[in-house]
Amino acid sequence: MSEQNDNKFLYTLDEEFTFSCENTLPCFNTCCRDINIFLTPYDVLRMRKSLWIPSEDFLRKYTVALLGDDGIPLVVLKMREDEEKTCPFVGPDGCTIYQDRPWSCRMFPVFPVSAEEEEFLIEEKISCHGFRVKKTSTVRRWKNEQDIAKYDSMNEGYKKITLHEFFQNGNKIESGMSKLVYNTCYDLDAFKRFIFGSRFFDIYDIDVQTIEAIKNDDEELLKFAYRWVEFNLFSTGDLRLKDKEMDKLLQARNKATS
Ligand code: SF4
Ligand code: SF4
Repeated sequence: MSEQNDNKFLYTLDEEFTFSCENTLPCFNTCCRDINIFLTPYDVLRMRKSLWIPSEDFLRKYTVALLGDDGIPLVVLKMREDEEKTCPFVGPDGCTIYQDRPWSCRMFPVFPVSAEEEEFLIEEKISCHGFRVKKTSTVRRWKNEQDIAKYDSMNEGYKKITLHEFFQNGNKIESGMSKLVYNTCYDLDAFKRFIFGSRFFDIYDIDVQTIEAIKNDDEELLKFAYRWVEFNLFSTGDLRLKDKEMDKLLQARNKATS
């Protein structure tokens, strides 16, 4: 562990830190307010399923969509419009969607410093009494307890898009593509209607098992959404067109530009 400034500390995966969030602490629930929580497409999938509402309703009611400098949409959880700007999901007994709370709420107070996750930042805020509870953990144990592996694996395909070398080279996608990323990855019900209500499967070479899987399982649908977005944005990935000539042309163009 190394100390930064302002009560901030850097930890590696197996170094121990002292923290426990408990409902008997005087600060209980006070941190679920006036915060920026960026939601991944998988967060949205889990949260709106927890509420049993369609993706479009969830996005409209509970989120604000912004745009990153690279054109990638940023979806932020909308706080209530009360004086304290409380999270819409906090109740007297804590988080009302606890089983499906977003990645950043699970990870708190641990923040990965980089995408490689070699170091993690913990800020010991005075207002958070959890740092005074004498219970230790490591980041690895913390991630296990918070079921982060599932989130990490479901975010993998999205990271392939957002951390693509196209963006590392300082490029930006135009607004039509930003909308495509948002409509496909975040508004999953709309994407499902689009692919099953159009000639999509006449154009793309998708095997029957995959079609069945994405029809019946939203997690499979989301993984497929990432593949389709990657194909559309960068012509990379493993999606193929049924038109072999066109597919060859695309592959050749991709090789030439890579
Ligand atoms: S211990 Fe920290 S994380 Fe837990 S409720 Fe209190 S302020 Fe929030
Ligand atoms: S989603 Fe749950 S854990 Fe996260 S801020 Fe809202 S109430 Fe708190």
